[in-house]
Amino acid sequence: AETVRLLSSSQVITSVVSVVKELIENSLDACATTIDIRLENYGFDKIEVRDNGNGIKVADVPVMAVKHYTSKINSSEDLERLTTYGFRGEALGSICCVSEVLVTTKTADDDISTQYVLDSNGHVTSQKPSHLGQGTTVTVLKLFKNLPVRKQFYSTNKKCKEELKKVQDLLIAYGIIKPELRITFVHNKAAIWQKNRVSDHKMACMSVLGTAVMGSMVPFQHRCEDPEINLSGFLPKAESDSSLTSLSSSERSFIFINDRPVHQKEILKVTPSSIYNHRDCVLLAVEHVLKSLYGPLPATVSGEANKTDVTSEDMFVHKAGQTDVVVNE
Ligand code: ADP
Ligand code: MG
Repeated sequence: AETVRLLSSSQVITSVVSVVKELIENSLDACATTIDIRLENYGFDKIEVRDNGNGIKVADVPVMAVKHYTSKINSSEDLERLTTYGFRGEALGSICCVSEVLVTTKTADDDISTQYVLDSNGHVTSQKPSHLGQGTTVTVLKLFKNLPVRKQFYSTNKKCKEELKKVQDLLIAYGIIKPELRITFVHNKAAIWQKNRVSDHKMACMSVLGTAVMGSMVPFQHRCEDPEINLSGFLPKAESDSSLTSLSSSERSFIFINDRPVHQKEILKVTPSSIYNHRDCVLLAVEHVLKSLYGPLPATVSGEANKTDVTSEDMFVHKAGQTDVVVNE
């Protein structure tokens, strides 16, 4: 049973960025308006996510990180193949299984905050009063301490830096999705990125990307075939020299559907010069993505936009009322 637990956990929690994602989603579920993320040694020594959300009620503490028993798995071999298994309600428990976890929390009804130490089964082993304000802080220490092969994968400086970049990209995505959210990101005590509260998605886009990047973007508005759908956003500016076809990977497109951001890997690969020539194709491609979300999925996009080959996979989209961010890996 211990092996099955470890295997299932290591499929939910695959990387530093997956821990950060789960913790941020919990903070957002708790209505946080400020989230502070701190990593030490790229997150392998410590990942701390602090929010000012609702906190965890004393009654919920004993069960918050206890994973549900599953009867669907008979052997650890079965488990290795189950990559799309629904692990809902198991994030915190899974993190406990592959690291050491502390949870400090205070609700509006509590006089003071309490810090709980959890064991690998998600059970509280000790608790003590703490000084933090309302909200929850989850501290994850020694990630993958019991998964040496996984840890080895991240042993190079390059892999670590890539991981840090992925965390930042994730935060940028949430920053755009949640304009009203304040985010700070610290690595080894150095502030590496932050975002203040702003009033809408476009302001959020500008604030997370910075004026330099925004200066090289062109805003657009597009009415789709379906009048209920309004596409808007920013595309990289076409270079006046049309021979310029390459671009740095940091240049991206930002597309909003009815003021909600959409991020589609294939669209982001389109270069500025091809956007210059095929801007309508990009927008057409987005229309097809929409159809794939709300209607039957077309195999490819017709006409010139064929090259973009849009599917609903690898896309993160924020649908009204729910947060659903998928990081392109
Ligand atoms: P899920 O989010 O699917 O319920 P998790 O394992 O991610 O499962 O979290 C378990 C529970 O712990 C949540 O349902 C919630 O009650 C509580 N919790 C976790 N993180 C927070 C947080 N930052 N603020 C408030 N409650 C939290
Ligand atoms: Mg969760």
